[in-house]
Amino acid sequence: MTKYHSGGCLCGAVTFKVTGDLAAPNACHCDQCRKQSGHYWASTDLNEADVEIEGADALTWFQSSAKVRRGVCSQCGSFLFWNPTVNDTIAIAMGAFDQPTDVNLSMHIFTSQKGDYYEISDGLPQNER
Ligand SMILES: [Zn+2]
Repeated sequence: MTKYHSGGCLCGAVTFKVTGDLAAPNACHCDQCRKQSGHYWASTDLNEADVEIEGADALTWFQSSAKVRRGVCSQCGSFLFWNPTVNDTIAIAMGAFDQPTDVNLSMHIFTSQKGDYYEISDGLPQNER
């Protein structure tokens, strides 16, 4: 039996379905992810071919850098997708998934840009970039 993980934005206008297991998520502490999420952003990297998005007309894509666009719901503002335009991958916000996700956070990235108001103390690997 094929396994699926589903989820969506806060208002429900945008939903998604992922075929197969989720990749182990990481938490990104870069300036862009902190600003867009309000703290740091945990996501799982997936192949676009395994991801089905419904309600895409409610999605707004923000081009945050030359090679990356970020997808938010235009109605409720949920930050759902981080999508490089140069390959076939897409990262989806862990907080947007229905539970159980069946994965555990694996590492912290861009910790060189982390906020000064918290410590990372869960013992997971930390990458400065
Ligand atoms: Zn929404």
